[in-house]
Order: sequence, then C-alpha cells, then structure tokens
Amino acid sequence: MSILRVAQAGHPVLRMRSEPVDPEVIPTPEFQGFLRDLLDTMEDYDGAGLAAPQVHEPMRVVVLVLSDERGPEFLINPVVTPVGEEQIVSFEGCLSVPKVRAEVTRHKAIRVEFLDDKGEPQLLELHGYPAIVVQHETDHLDGVLYIDRCDPRTFSYLDEYRRFGGLQFDERGELVLSEEE
Ligand code: ZN
Repeated sequence: MSILRVAQAGHPVLRMRSEPVDPEVIPTPEFQGFLRDLLDTMEDYDGAGLAAPQVHEPMRVVVLVLSDERGPEFLINPVVTPVGEEQIVSFEGCLSVPKVRAEVTRHKAIRVEFLDDKGEPQLLELHGYPAIVVQHETDHLDGVLYIDRCDPRTFSYLDEYRRFGGLQFDERGELVLSEEE
C-alpha cells in the first residue's frame, strides 16, 4: 500500500486532458496496484473521490464513494451524459484546492458509462449527491476544477463555511443573512 501525494491547484497536471486507459491494461498487476494506491490515498486524505490526475497520473480513472452501502468504486474511461434539464446547487470542496468551499451548479441527474476495475462495462443512472460527485471527479479528467464552475461570491474558507453554513444569495443577488451560531 502506498499513499500518493495529491497535486495542488496550480500544478499543470490538474489542467491536462487525461488519456483513456487501454482496457487490456486493466487486469495487469501494475494497474491494479495503482487502483489500490488511488483508493488508499483517497481514504488517507478523507476524500469522497479522487481522480488519477490528482495523484500526477493523467489517466481517465477515478475512485469515489457514491453511498456508504456501495462503498468505494472505480470508474475507468467514464462518459457522463446529463439526464433532463434540472440543476442542483451545492457547496463543493476538493483535495487539490484544500480548506475552501464554494457553491457549484450541476446537472441533477446523469447517466455514466464506464469500465469497472475488472474491465467490465457498467452503466449507472444517478441523481442528487452521487451525480454531483461523478461530475466533480470526471471534470478532473478534462482539466476542470470546481472553482471554474463556482459562484465566486460563495467562496469560503472551511472555518467560515462551518461557522456561517455557506453564503446564500437570492435571485436579485442580495445576501441572505442567516443566524450565526
Ligand atoms: Zn476535486
């Protein structure tokens, strides 16, 4: 088991378009070892997901936890398709942009096609939180960070996010004040 170092925003590897994985490589001990290291690194950093470019490997691979019941799973060469027009807004964070949070609008429902860690084709239809995680992680494979998509007014350090619960604005752009604890 190896804990890999997580690239921080400003490192060029986070802005590259990652290369697809050759399916024949998936069963090899080297690749399976990499998957294990990617998972161990996500767990050590206490993340909900981690993409290969975040550990300096520009390959189209992510590990993520869609729910406690499912546990960690790998998406290799994932392709995301939005389902419907509905959008969802939530505060996101990223191991490559540590200790900050900001609000991002994403597709509420998606379909994702990918190869699993055995090289088997899989198709999932997801909505809500799991759909957000998949969109966040697969963005990494195209060199996109959530801060590119966020409402910059909502940018918060983690301490302030926890203290104020994340800044909210109404349709007119006015700050919605909530009670401080
Ligand atoms: Zn991230």
